[in-house]
Amino acid sequence: MSTDNTQKKILIIEDEVSISDIIKFNLTKEGYRTETAYDGKAGLEKALAGDCDLILLDVMLPLMDGFEVCKKVREVSSIPILMLTAKEEEVDKVLGLELGADDYITKPFGMRELIARIKANIRRSEFPKEQAELPADVKDFGNLQIDMNRYEVRKNGKPLELTLREFELLRYLAEREDKVFSREQLLEEVWGYEYYGDIRTVDVTVRRLREKLEDDPGDPRYIMTKRGIGYYFRRQ
Ligand code: CA
Repeated sequence: MSTDNTQKKILIIEDEVSISDIIKFNLTKEGYRTETAYDGKAGLEKALAGDCDLILLDVMLPLMDGFEVCKKVREVSSIPILMLTAKEEEVDKVLGLELGADDYITKPFGMRELIARIKANIRRSEFPKEQAELPADVKDFGNLQIDMNRYEVRKNGKPLELTLREFELLRYLAEREDKVFSREQLLEEVWGYEYYGDIRTVDVTVRRLREKLEDDPGDPRYIMTKRGIGYYFRRQ
């Protein structure tokens, strides 16, 4: 068992005690510390206490559902959120991502897969902190400036609030101006691991990014669609 997880604390917000227990058991075995909540309200309170490194968040919860919890946490925190969604609830995945969840995993899931996702999302969340130590590396695209190292984007001098994924997608495309990438390529390159082929994740992230980036998200200037192929960043 690895020992480098010992400092990491995972908040499990899940009302089904049997599922919560088995997750807790497996995470503890892997060296994580855990905290549990069995309804959305208690979960939100614990999430806002701010001493966890990642949140596992069920969708269907008593008192407050997972989407509401996700939205409220995102208002104040960029902590990684991994949603637990039921297989038949396809729409949940997209909605969760739109509300700012970093990732989702479909029930029933294997513990190895869950732990791999947890590791990947924690690693990803720590990356910007390391990057922030690096010198600024600002690329200028007309009225848009992207600091490739420090995860900062400014438009007309004003900082944009992007999520980690949105920034990474933007950076990936902007570093490769005019080159078109398929959704599958972007999933692999930007999300960084096998993503079980749900390419709508890319579409949702592009849509969110355009809403923040573009003057008219319906007529984008930066993140362009290549019909039938994918997306690219247009040379300004
Ligand atoms: Ca539930």
